Amino acid sequence: MTVEGAPPGAAAELVGGHRVRRTSMAMADGRELLYFDDSPGYVDGTATRETRDTRDLPPVATTSTMRFDVLTGEWVALAAHRMDRTFKPPADLCPLCPTRPGRPAGEVPADDYDVVVFENRFPSYAGAGGPAATAPATHLDGEELWVTRPAVGRCEVICFTADHDASVASLPVSRVRTVVEAWADRTAALSALAGVGQVFPFENRGEEIGVTLQHPHGQIYAYPEPAPRLAQYLGRAAAHRAATGGNLLADVLAAERRAGTRVVLAGERWTAYVPAAARWPVEVHLAPHRDVPDLAALDGPERDELAVVYRELLRRLDRYFPEVETLPYIAGWHQAPVGAERDLGRLHLQAFSILRSPNKLKYLAGSESGAGAWVNDTTPERIAERLRAVAS
Ligand SMILES: [Zn+2]
Repeated sequence: MTVEGAPPGAAAELVGGHRVRRTSMAMADGRELLYFDDSPGYVDGTATRETRDTRDLPPVATTSTMRFDVLTGEWVALAAHRMDRTFKPPADLCPLCPTRPGRPAGEVPADDYDVVVFENRFPSYAGAGGPAATAPATHLDGEELWVTRPAVGRCEVICFTADHDASVASLPVSRVRTVVEAWADRTAALSALAGVGQVFPFENRGEEIGVTLQHPHGQIYAYPEPAPRLAQYLGRAAAHRAATGGNLLADVLAAERRAGTRVVLAGERWTAYVPAAARWPVEVHLAPHRDVPDLAALDGPERDELAVVYRELLRRLDRYFPEVETLPYIAGWHQAPVGAERDLGRLHLQAFSILRSPNKLKYLAGSESGAGAWVNDTTPERIAERLRAVAS
């Protein structure tokens, strides 16, 4: 299908105190793409990005289903169509780079961009806001034990920069600030879709993590209900509230700030600390001082400081092992659930690496993968000491 001159979706607008212009368009297969521009000219609207995607694309496969694991109480998504997704293309065929003369059109039709977000062509979850959101659960093979239903949700890709060889840590603070604005915008937009129970923005960085595209990018997953880690936390937080009346994550932050031993960075509005029971060989959490459920609830000064401290944390991760130039990491934003028990949640970032020494990966072997019992080969205090030592 070829769409000529697809109209821009939502009107361009300014969001937040930092000046960003958001421009929406429809991609050739109907997916949504949003430019978040902070460059002069694009902010005031005198310059505009390309909003026509003239590629001939087949429809997006959105056939994912979920099955309920009765032994753990967790859902498992089955997305067999993802087997066909783009795998480690050469740099001159990168689908996340801007579309420029002499190379095939990529996902972004503009010849340059600041930050861009679009729906994943190979989504694990899809159909939020549509009829699938209310589709009833059925039983596999007619057995009551095996509940199955469409994997409703939405998966978006966020490109942090048009520069294929950059990283979030190498961007100017103002561009990281635009990334924060895009995360907040998407958190609010996806939370408003029927069938969404949790919005999880994250970045996988490095081949060791299994990244299939080298271009600096992250993802934003909207799950149909709180995913297992959040669901487990909500149970813990409910028990904590019943026992003490407090918010578990707020009380953890207060305790870390009182103890100070694992605090690696303290701003006016944010504190980063290594959790007392860190399970990864390199792990750090970042939490706002104010109780906020998600990125969309951050005010302007909190977003401003976040851009500074988030970039600083990522820079420290890259300096963690002197022999390793770019640390493979996973950085994910844990946000409050969209519906029930929202008041138990509290925004925080978890960033960690699977690298336990310059050339050794932490494998999740028998104890971790089989029994779910974690063994860390270092101590959280040592991780914190190192993250303080490599401060800018
Ligand atoms: Zn690229």
